[in-house]
Amino acid sequence: VKAALVALVRNTDLLGMRQTIRQIEDRFNSRFNYPYIFLNDVPFTEEFKAGVRILTSANVSFGELDSESWGMPEWIDRERFEVVKRTARYPHGGSDSYRKMCRFQSGFIHKHPLLADLEFYWRIEPDVEFFCDQEYDPFVYMKENGLKYGWVIGMTEFMDTVATLWNTTMGFIAEHPGMVSPANLKRWLLDDAGNYNGCHFWTNFEIVDLSFYRSPEYEAYFQHLDRAGGFFYERWGDAPVHSIAAALFLNASQTHWFEDIGYFHPAVAKCPSGSNIRSKCVCDPQRSFVEKSY
Ligand code: GDP
Ligand code: MN
Repeated sequence: VKAALVALVRNTDLLGMRQTIRQIEDRFNSRFNYPYIFLNDVPFTEEFKAGVRILTSANVSFGELDSESWGMPEWIDRERFEVVKRTARYPHGGSDSYRKMCRFQSGFIHKHPLLADLEFYWRIEPDVEFFCDQEYDPFVYMKENGLKYGWVIGMTEFMDTVATLWNTTMGFIAEHPGMVSPANLKRWLLDDAGNYNGCHFWTNFEIVDLSFYRSPEYEAYFQHLDRAGGFFYERWGDAPVHSIAAALFLNASQTHWFEDIGYFHPAVAKCPSGSNIRSKCVCDPQRSFVEKSY
């Protein structure tokens, strides 16, 4: 499959990124040899490049972001944004860069020129762990089964970060009713009163058929959200954005839970059930936070 392991990452994340690559190589990629693509809003240092290259024999490329994909659109009211940052009471509420990161991962990562030839990407982050040997190729598995969106951990959102996301989404649906899949997963998104319940795929891990993000539906949805300004006036995450889009525009059967992937991102672990007796995983399913809490 034309696929790669892709991370947006900072130079200061070198150590954490090396941990992730070491584990991905040991558990999976030393046998499959998929290339890595690292993206950054500033140039990568020589130290970063050398530090990740030395861990893999796969092809590694480094890219920078343009000012459209990493920035604040001109229609965002700067004064309003400053007030939001001063008064927001949720994690990263005072941060410009975290919001730019979420907007980039929502609307631009799949358009980066280094990803142009890819059919699929597997998003990776610094400081994550993989508990199990990955014995089959998840890209091939997804492609052969017509799967578009693969995930491991489901999570709920800090609702103040997405206060108007669902209303804005409903405005989009009202304008484009034909874009919603008849076999959608919308039920998963809603509480009993029909409001967004905050459920999302935890996008620090995702394996995606990029034709989904490149589709006219997804692009129109992103443009609608970007215009509404909630990446800045609130702190819309790429996780709820990707998840709502997947739940609405895909068939439920095109999303896939990788039950067999053991994964940790600070501070949540997913350990496959039965893996205490499977030889190729090292984690405790009794302490798999996901099944216990979400
Ligand atoms: P969290 O997972 O929500 O806690 O957010 P992280 O801090 O892990 O950020 C998500 C990903 O975006 C990580 O791979 C970070 O390295 C990357 N990232 C976050 N902020 C920036 C930034 O300002 N510049 C760059 N280049 N990468 C960033
Ligand atoms: Mn992270």
